[in-house]
Amino acid sequence: MDDMIIVFFGELSTKGKNIMDFIRLLGKNIKISLHEFTALTYEIKKDHIYIHLNGVDYRLIYPYLSKIPGLISYSLARMVKNDIEEIKKLGKEAYLESEKTTFKVVTKRIEKDFPIHSDDVNRAVASKILKEVSTAKVDVHNPDCLINIMIRKDGTYIYCKKEKGMGGYPLGIAGKSLMLLSGGIDSPVASYLMMKRGVKLEMIHFEAPPYTSAKVIEKISDLIRVLNSYQSEIKLYTVPFTDLEKKIYEVCGPSYLVTIMRRMMLRIAERVAYKHNCLAIATGESIGQVASQTLYSMKCIEKVSSLPVFRPLCTYDKTDIISLAKQIGTYDISIRPYEDCCTIFDIKDPVTHPHDDIVEELEKSFDYESMIKDCLSNIKTTKFSLIEEEL
Ligand code: ATP
Ligand code: MG
Repeated sequence: MDDMIIVFFGELSTKGKNIMDFIRLLGKNIKISLHEFTALTYEIKKDHIYIHLNGVDYRLIYPYLSKIPGLISYSLARMVKNDIEEIKKLGKEAYLESEKTTFKVVTKRIEKDFPIHSDDVNRAVASKILKEVSTAKVDVHNPDCLINIMIRKDGTYIYCKKEKGMGGYPLGIAGKSLMLLSGGIDSPVASYLMMKRGVKLEMIHFEAPPYTSAKVIEKISDLIRVLNSYQSEIKLYTVPFTDLEKKIYEVCGPSYLVTIMRRMMLRIAERVAYKHNCLAIATGESIGQVASQTLYSMKCIEKVSSLPVFRPLCTYDKTDIISLAKQIGTYDISIRPYEDCCTIFDIKDPVTHPHDDIVEELEKSFDYESMIKDCLSNIKTTKFSLIEEEL
């Protein structure tokens, strides 16, 4: 036996009788994320998940754990045999490593055959620290360092320093949604926020070749590979949108182009979502960012979808979106200078307050239904998987 990592799950504790399903799903997601470390073994319990390191360096594991939705924090727990002298020694080491001043010792005696009571273990460890570290102070109400001692059959585990996880819910617990992924800064960040909330995503991207180049798809693929660290398998549906977009431009003119183009995108997304059992659609829109993202525009666009449309960034300022993009590692890819299908036409004075009757009149003037069917029958599906790439 060896050291282990203890995983804490936070918000799950509010989920009552479904808690074991949540924990099992989280355990499964952790195992998938750490699949390349074959020496690890796991214990999935009601209050924690234990990852036994069996010789693997914990510093290799931490970056993976920081990207697992539903994980509130995690700690390295060092192991010694069930011997009070060893426990005292390791307790002091854990305290010194924390680099804090005030401390409290809390012991849980899971192995009832251990002859010393929890309170006496607390006292023994605290006295050693107080005697040997002149700056140390006990604070039972608000300690900077909580030294946790867990006496189990296989040994005693001691931990105090907690690393912050990404929080949220285990991926997949909240169902599946279809994300409209452009190559911009916003939609990958919106994807991250949806995943953090436990929503599994499939991606849809509208391309307009030859106006948009193959480099755009390369950019989209690279963005998805970054998002693969949060969701190990992601499907991308690429929709050829050129003919429909050209027709919209021809029929609707520049000011209504974006409104009607977005309605067509949403109509296509809705059908793809139903086909693949997605319960909702999500986008990277933010209120007021551009003409198509005023409340008037969003109301007019969203009308064509019977599925809920989630916009996790709707209240975010661009500067906050950019910091989050940098933090999750999508920013440098997003700023690569390739065109989006929405930018290939010269859009003059896009409407910020589209009128439903004008929109409906314009849409009646061409057979968009058959063009949507063409788009749907030419969708290309690509699967991005962490596991497959490594096999
Ligand atoms: P992003 O919002 O991703 O940074 P952007 O700001 O250039 O890119 P907008 O014009 O603001 O894109 O588009 C708003 C939202 O519409 C995007 O966040 C995305 O969800 C969706 N979208 C735009 N273009 C596409 C596309 N070509 N394929 C799929 N979704 C798209
Ligand atoms: Mg945007």
